Amino acid sequence: MNKKEKELHHLLDEGLSFAKKKIETERKLGEKLEYNPSKEPDPGWWLSFEEFERLVLVTEYHDKTGEEYGQDEGGRRLHATFHCIVENQISEGIEETKRLLTKKSQEFGNRHEAIHYLARDISGDMFLTMQQMET
Ligand SMILES: [Zn+2]
Repeated sequence: MNKKEKELHHLLDEGLSFAKKKIETERKLGEKLEYNPSKEPDPGWWLSFEEFERLVLVTEYHDKTGEEYGQDEGGRRLHATFHCIVENQISEGIEETKRLLTKKSQEFGNRHEAIHYLARDISGDMFLTMQQMET
């Protein structure tokens, strides 16, 4: 890891630990803050969080269920990031994403699996874009 990457990691860590503290404080005040991918979050509720807080909520869910969702810290963060990208698009009312998520949820009988499907779709696109940028 070079210096710039280390600094970025540090910033990310700080952002996440700040968001975690904020969520814990709100919980102490009686807020019930939980993300569950099998239920569609209320758009106003979801969008009321900052990006780091959304990442914390998604990560907590996966940690709690004990499912395998990434080989290392970086992989798990990426997984949570893709959840957030999909949920953000749904909450912002992007029709194409909503339609695809509904369709895949019905197909798999599982909204969480459908999110993973969409995430693979998005990450595939990103991978192609990055490859094109390199050439
Ligand atoms: Zn997941």
